Amino acid sequence: MTVNEYIKIRFGRHLDQCTNEEIYIGLLEYIKDKALDKEIVGGKKKLYYISAEFLIGKLLSNNLINLGLYDQVKAELEACGKSLAEIEEIEVEPSLGNGGLGRLAACFLDSIATLGLNGDGVGLAYHMGLFKQVFNNNLQTEEPNPWMSEHSWMTKTDKTYQVDFGGFNVQSRMYDIGVTGYDSVTTKLHLFDVETVDESIIGEGIDFDKSEFEKNLTLFLYPDDSDDNGRLLRVYQQYFMVSNAAQLVIDEALEKGSTLYDLPDYAVIQINDTHPSMVIPELVRLLQIHGLTMDEAISVVSKCCAYTNHTILAEALEKWPIKFMMKAVPQLMPIIRELHNRVVKKVSSDEDVAIISDGLVHMAHMDIHYGISINGVAALHTEILKETELNKFYKLYPDRFNNKTNGITFRRWLLYCNPELSKLIEELIGPGFKKDATELKKLEQYINDDAVVQRFINVKKTRKNVLKDYLAETQGIELDENSIYDIQVKRLHEYKRQQMNALYVINKYFEIKEGKKPVRLITVIFGAKAAPAYVIAKDIIHLILCLSEIIANDPDVSPYLKVVMVENYNVTLAEKLIPACDIHEQISLASKEASGTSNMKFMLNGAIAIGTMDGANVEMHQFVGDDNIFIFGDDSDTVIKRYEDASYVSKDYYLKDANLKRCVDFIISGKMLKVGQEENLKRLYNELLNKDWFMTFPDFEDYCKTKERAYAAFENRMEWGRKMVKNIANAGFFSSDRTIEQYNNDIWKLS
Ligand SMILES: *Cc1c(COP(=O)(O)O)cnc(C)c1O
Repeated sequence: MTVNEYIKIRFGRHLDQCTNEEIYIGLLEYIKDKALDKEIVGGKKKLYYISAEFLIGKLLSNNLINLGLYDQVKAELEACGKSLAEIEEIEVEPSLGNGGLGRLAACFLDSIATLGLNGDGVGLAYHMGLFKQVFNNNLQTEEPNPWMSEHSWMTKTDKTYQVDFGGFNVQSRMYDIGVTGYDSVTTKLHLFDVETVDESIIGEGIDFDKSEFEKNLTLFLYPDDSDDNGRLLRVYQQYFMVSNAAQLVIDEALEKGSTLYDLPDYAVIQINDTHPSMVIPELVRLLQIHGLTMDEAISVVSKCCAYTNHTILAEALEKWPIKFMMKAVPQLMPIIRELHNRVVKKVSSDEDVAIISDGLVHMAHMDIHYGISINGVAALHTEILKETELNKFYKLYPDRFNNKTNGITFRRWLLYCNPELSKLIEELIGPGFKKDATELKKLEQYINDDAVVQRFINVKKTRKNVLKDYLAETQGIELDENSIYDIQVKRLHEYKRQQMNALYVINKYFEIKEGKKPVRLITVIFGAKAAPAYVIAKDIIHLILCLSEIIANDPDVSPYLKVVMVENYNVTLAEKLIPACDIHEQISLASKEASGTSNMKFMLNGAIAIGTMDGANVEMHQFVGDDNIFIFGDDSDTVIKRYEDASYVSKDYYLKDANLKRCVDFIISGKMLKVGQEENLKRLYNELLNKDWFMTFPDFEDYCKTKERAYAAFENRMEWGRKMVKNIANAGFFSSDRTIEQYNNDIWKLS
């Protein structure tokens, strides 16, 4: 059935008589129907990928591509004078994630379905998502980001569970989003919601009464945790998520004939970061209710669970106070104590590997002691875990540690977001790369073919214009497509060092003022949300927005430098920004970025990285070599040592380097205070001068020099084009299909 026929039945009207809204609703149903034709994966053993975040992005075009309907539907719409791009605008992007971790989970679901593996995602249906970022007076403010509506990808199921908390219980309901694989089968993303949630308790911005747990449980992802009630709410949310997941796991295993003693033959659970860690004691508890002894239950559960570590930042490794656990989930504490005691008795009495110490429950420690696998997300990150952060655990369980370098789905991050590039690649090497990403390597034969390289440069130009039009229309931002697009988009965090990029902008501003003018306009584009309670991160956003204003209004500088901060960075914006990018910033402090995945998306789209030897940048560098990536800065050994010695004093660098000093001082200059808030700017200035915990200053000089090198290299257009082709040709390794194959071969072992 064509869309036209479908719409006719649905609305009794021809396509060209329908509004875009009606067509959107029609397409939603049409696609859901078509997806039903695709066989759901079956099989005895099933993967449950539990994650607090699934940053899935819009699904309309993605589903059309995966179902092989994109070209047909697009043509059919065009024949009726309708534009698929305009209809896509109607879909609201669910903000069910914060950044890379959530986007990874979404890419993984795509690859799991594409590879035809029996695996589902499990998470929560946050009504308001993370938040919507709005800029006011050069400051970030937060607003609710509602995305659920009568017509959405979510389907209500009749699965409901009771979830018991200390002193009360709630009824959950499971909603499903179908996940289509590319030219393949479908799987499911299960999102649990609570029936009693009450959107009317939201007040100003994203404020709400944090103590009414029945009403607020699934309102927001990562509610403000700067006070006790906020932290307690996270415990409630996490338990709600894993109790539902555990009940689902047991239900489905029983349905397939499991005795539960053989649960590991029916279920494997991937714990994405520590948010789902309570699934371990919860499963132990439920198995006991089903008649297993504590011993048996622990033994079964330890064969089912695997943990992915995403960070070495101490503050991100969750530790919940026992008093919170006793209040929210008292039924789990005896089990956690038992898990803890067994470690002390049988494995090690070292406090550093204990599950309970100092009145805190260490979630990651529980995962490591009672899991089959612990993996890092890039080669360097896994080595750091083994040698440094988790070294004591590595010594206890060397065989459990393994690396799974992250990946991205090429369906969304190439076929969908950059059809011009995809088409060019297909013309050159055929369509095989769509299913086997390593075939991109064949592009290397064209690196010295100027005519072909020129076509890659032309595609980039096209995409720069697409971005220009999009930002003009949606955000009122004016770009010049002949400028260099230098882009840093990612969560705002000091370790990612947007502040270093901002200091570079100040440096360039001074240089231009002094008459040292760039040969071409440089456009530095930022996009980042800051966690609502992360004060310094918000101050960095303030700095960037103020710089943008000052530079735009300075006629000496504005012809040569432009600073743009896009509002509410999300997947939809990423899909526009990444194909248009010339230079991408991957400038985290070495050792701190576990992997990064935007680096992979940019590489695949022919952008060249300026980066530190951190995360997956290290592997990218190995693939493309020194000439095709701009590496700078201290390496992870140097950084780790500097932390160990506690030898870093930021002020020493500030006093030593006059250039750096004038950039830092500019933050509190009269010019800045005229457009910005004194409190915010002073706080940021003091933070950098007296702490600079993520060591911006030591890398600053090298960073500035490296950017000059990159900008100069850009001017040799043909050589730059070769770098682009080299990067695209070597991006194949970073397909999430490869990552998922490795997870399956080494950990999940699904047939
Ligand atoms: C890929 C992606 C990220 C991750 O970016 P990193 O630079 O790897 O931290 C974050 N947000 C969105 C919307 C993304 O698409």
